[in-house]
Amino acid sequence: MRKTIYLKFILAYALFAFFGFVTVATFVSRLTYEYCQRQTSRNMYQEATRIADTYAADLYNSEISLETVQKQMESLSYFMDTEIWIINPSGRMIVNSADAPDPEQEIVVEGFDPTVTQKNYYTRGTFFDSFDEEKLSVIAPIINNYKTRGYVIIHTAASKIDEDANNMLNISYLMLIVILFLSIIILIFFTEIVYRPLRKIIAATEQYAAGNMHYELNVEGDDEMGYLAASLGYMARTVASSEDDQKKFIANVSHDFRSPLTSIRGFLEAMQDGTIPPEMHHHYIGVVLNETERLTKLTNSLLALNNLNTKGMLLQMTDWDINDVIRKVSASFEQVCRSKNIRIRLILSGDVLYVHADMDKIQQVLYNLIDNAIKFSNYYSEIEIETTEKKGKVFVSVKDSGIGIPKEDQNQIWERFYKTDLSRGKDKKGTGLGLSIVREIIRAHGENISLVSTEGVGSKFTFTLKRSDLNDELDEEDTE
Ligand code: ADP
Repeated sequence: MRKTIYLKFILAYALFAFFGFVTVATFVSRLTYEYCQRQTSRNMYQEATRIADTYAADLYNSEISLETVQKQMESLSYFMDTEIWIINPSGRMIVNSADAPDPEQEIVVEGFDPTVTQKNYYTRGTFFDSFDEEKLSVIAPIINNYKTRGYVIIHTAASKIDEDANNMLNISYLMLIVILFLSIIILIFFTEIVYRPLRKIIAATEQYAAGNMHYELNVEGDDEMGYLAASLGYMARTVASSEDDQKKFIANVSHDFRSPLTSIRGFLEAMQDGTIPPEMHHHYIGVVLNETERLTKLTNSLLALNNLNTKGMLLQMTDWDINDVIRKVSASFEQVCRSKNIRIRLILSGDVLYVHADMDKIQQVLYNLIDNAIKFSNYYSEIEIETTEKKGKVFVSVKDSGIGIPKEDQNQIWERFYKTDLSRGKDKKGTGLGLSIVREIIRAHGENISLVSTEGVGSKFTFTLKRSDLNDELDEEDTE
């Protein structure tokens, strides 16, 4: 990575330059030569046909003398930088702008064939060995009374065309160099926008991989690189904070395990060395059992949380009657309620109310909420459990008139191991895990749980569940 991406880009640039030059030297060069040749020959052909229609035609009609035509052709060829011939179909030279033919001495172009140009306007070569150097020649017939009387032939030096083409080609080379030079700007942009930020990101990922999650990644910009860097930074912060959470969690767990273990050990030692007399053993065994019960509860809650986290999405969704489940869960608290003289009042919507959810998990939610409500309720008070239906949802609320939860604690009670100061004295066995479990379960269902609470007045927890379609089917059956 370190060496390659930049080198690859430079290599791509070098290839671009190389192929640019190769293309200009071969393809563009051929096109330019062909273009110049075609363009010149077209102009020459137009001139040749013009001469054939005017001077040459007049010459064959004897309307103009040979000398005049010779003179005209001389000045015209001088002006056009060409050589103009008029010859008979047999190849005998009549007019030659370069050298006026001697009437006494017959000059013939040996092997002259007017079809030599074939489909083109022109032919390139020494024109039937008439010249030493290469010429570009065009042939235009002189037609009189539907008969070909002769030909006007114009020659120009092929080297002149090559020179023009070379000049044009030089412009192409110059343009290519300018483009290559300007494209260095792309290289600079690439370095600044992609390469440098990428190096910083790589340095940061190396730091993160080495465990330094607090490494500061500094890449500004609202482009993809900036976004990538921001996401990476966010990921590192999340990992760092989850590592912190993990440490906090383990510290909490260890603390919660250690205190009952210390007290169990203390009592057992005191019993062993006789500090606690045998007649008091029965009482202290009860205390020790109580502590072990707390440890069991803590272990169960931790296991439950762990299961929810790892297979949080594996819910057994079925349709069942929430009213019935509430009745059963409340009944299981009968004994505790009686001991505190607490009454549970059920305000249930209809006789049966079907919901679509995981029954065991929601039972656990109800259990935790009612357990808390009883724990934090005063003697001789009332707990209300209510179900209502609204817009395809079932709202379940558990309301107590207990100690309440202070405003500043209301966001934190959902966190693992969190307990309010108010509750510490009242509930020594609490683990602070119950509401975390509740929240995980409700979240896994994609539903919500909310809390309304006033210190010293009471608390009301309300959660939603999906109303089952079974209710409507049962309603229809009833009306039938
Ligand atoms: P715990 O096992 O301690 O009850 P929870 O997670 O269920 O753990 O509750 C966390 C804390 O929230 C409790 O320790 C208590 O301070 C507070 N809390 C929960 N429910 C109530 C309630 N109904 N009334 C007052 N405080 C409550």
